Amino acid sequence: VERSLVLVKPDGYRRGLTGEVLSRIEAKGYRLAALSVVEATPEQLAAHYAEHEGKPFYEPLVEFMSSGPLVAAVIEGHGCITGFRTIAGTTDPTTAAPGSIRGDLARDWGLTVQQNIVHGSDSPESAAREIAIWFPNGL
Ligand code: ATP
Repeated sequence: VERSLVLVKPDGYRRGLTGEVLSRIEAKGYRLAALSVVEATPEQLAAHYAEHEGKPFYEPLVEFMSSGPLVAAVIEGHGCITGFRTIAGTTDPTTAAPGSIRGDLARDWGLTVQQNIVHGSDSPESAAREIAIWFPNGL
């Protein structure tokens, strides 16, 4: 069965939106296979965001992701990779569709990084890679 790696980023955790995000995942019908509150290490963030290294928002992104605890989850269910990204909404919270997590719960704070509450893997390959980063001891 398909799996995806979901993060409730530090803005979502800080604002008390973890339950709301997990509720939406469960209400959609996906199963929580693993769940953990963690402070991301620099090594985890470098691995997770390797594709963005060198981009203008990379440093602020890593700083933001280190700014407090986050929640890492593995979700399970047919189509959950695309399904969760649809529930999450598009990257920019200003224009993310109402009804989506980012559309309903996030906004532009005028910062150099988008604080958009959640991350979700974008392919089966990314999911496998990211699950190994956040759950190094297995599920
Ligand atoms: P995620 O991977 O977190 O689900 P995404 O796939 O929608 O989001 P990516 O392109 O992978 O977005 O970017 C990773 C994260 O970097 C975004 O979620 C956002 O927090 C930040 N980010 C991406 N693009 C920009 C940008 N142009 N300006 C500021 N921050 C950005």
